[in-house]
Amino acid sequence: MERKSVVSRREALRGGVVVALVVVGCRGNRTLPTCTDTTGLPPDQVKLRETLAYADRAPDPAKTCDHCAQFEPGPSADACGGCKLMKGPICPGGTCKVFTPRA
Ligand code: SF4
Repeated sequence: MERKSVVSRREALRGGVVVALVVVGCRGNRTLPTCTDTTGLPPDQVKLRETLAYADRAPDPAKTCDHCAQFEPGPSADACGGCKLMKGPICPGGTCKVFTPRA
């Protein structure tokens, strides 16, 4: 006696495609650099980064440094850039307390 599958092959394939698209969509397609090395920065600049709560990864994807008016892009989209307000490497996906959306 042949048993009928509860989920057809087509339905299973469709579900797999949806899962794959969700995984790819969540991961995005950019690789963020690590921009936390403050070696060589004067202590007051290190303190400023702390005071402004610079974070290398923004919890809110709408408030990342690369969407901020103060951001100075690096040589490529996946490289550290800079900030007009603080010295040191700045991640395009980072953020801080004074995020200012670009006009
Ligand atoms: S001000 Fe803050 S959010 Fe804007 S680029 Fe500088 S570190 Fe990033």
